[in-house]
Amino acid sequence: METSPLLLSLRCHALHLLDRHREALVVADKLRHILPSWSRGHYWRGCCLLLACRPQEALTSLLLAVALSAGQAPPNPAGMPCPHTLIQAGLGQLCSLSEVHLQLLVNWISKEITRLKRLESKSSNEILVVPPSLPPGIEEADFDCILCSRILWKPVTTPCGHTFCSGCLDRCLDHTATCPLCMAPLHDLLSSSRCISVALKAILELMLPASSLYSRELSARAELAAPAHVPVFVCTVAWPGVPCPLYVFEPRYRLLVRRCVETGGRVFGMAAGSEGGHGFVDVGTLLDVRDWLRLPDGCSLLTAVGARRFRVIARAERDGYFTARVELLRDRPSGPGVKELAEKVRCKGQRWVASMPPNARAEVERAFGHMPAQESGDYCCPPDGPAWAWWLLAILPLSPRLQVAILATTSLEKRLRAIDKTLDRIQCCRV
Ligand SMILES: [Zn+2]
Ligand SMILES: [Zn+2]
Repeated sequence: METSPLLLSLRCHALHLLDRHREALVVADKLRHILPSWSRGHYWRGCCLLLACRPQEALTSLLLAVALSAGQAPPNPAGMPCPHTLIQAGLGQLCSLSEVHLQLLVNWISKEITRLKRLESKSSNEILVVPPSLPPGIEEADFDCILCSRILWKPVTTPCGHTFCSGCLDRCLDHTATCPLCMAPLHDLLSSSRCISVALKAILELMLPASSLYSRELSARAELAAPAHVPVFVCTVAWPGVPCPLYVFEPRYRLLVRRCVETGGRVFGMAAGSEGGHGFVDVGTLLDVRDWLRLPDGCSLLTAVGARRFRVIARAERDGYFTARVELLRDRPSGPGVKELAEKVRCKGQRWVASMPPNARAEVERAFGHMPAQESGDYCCPPDGPAWAWWLLAILPLSPRLQVAILATTSLEKRLRAIDKTLDRIQCCRV
């Protein structure tokens, strides 16, 4: 949001010279709210209103501009008429201005100047609190979202005619596909990317003080902002470098995934559930979201790939899902002989995959791709060692407990031995 008064004033000027007076009015209003006692904002507003044939309002703004510049030259931007000329034009547009009217106007202007000066002396560098200047009978609360009781943010109007913040509506639709107010079915809104109501957004910007919208924007951003904790999807063990397709249907995970995608971070933690009181095990894998497909019923299909492993340091909760402060895991340097062990295990793994029934093998490769080739260079390539080992682990029949233990170890040798043993066990069962 542009907040430099000088730039806003220059923009007003440019818009005037381009005959884009309606846009200039929006900018002038912003300027007026940011710096209430600067004569420029009122001058530009007066110009716009005069051209919009609203002489009474134009006059109040222009008179304010002159009064606020007391002791200095009134604003007179290049190529624009001076305020006095404009005031005369405004008076000319008015059919009549009675003495009572004039007195009221003068009183109002002197009060307004006192108010604006008081406001500006109080304002800090943060948010300027300007009381709304809404038409009579309309209050700021009329623009509140009924779901969050704050000013509508990215307003969306449903086919049944009700308006909510886009994010608030999403959270309702996570639970049931009906309008939160009138219960009308809203299935069509689930899969489509809905449009923000442009007209309503413009009205909000025009009628509400910039400061109110600014603080609403701040709170909306805070809601989305990535906290220090990683959101945790509790479901299964995911492996580094291995695809982890997910069908997202639970309301809390719909919210988690949406936040991840909307903030552009596209990373969350995946961890297996635990029977203890903690909700999930101590180690997990960060997942990198590659693709997100919203289904007509509001659920979604997620294509994600495992990234780094993590250990949980602290746990928390946010809007129903778990979060965690994590440290990333990294393999320790391997001892001598690991290269030979790795080579042996890789060949054994390859033989096992080759011996699978064709349809089972096709199924594995459809879900996880082909077995990754041996990376060139060092075997103990940190932080996670060779990719083919994780690929084998993803398809080997391991108990959930063993899976977690293998994910947690930072010894490549231990991981390879676990694979080796499991392959031997499979071989024994076959014989
Ligand atoms: Zn809302
Ligand atoms: Zn409705």
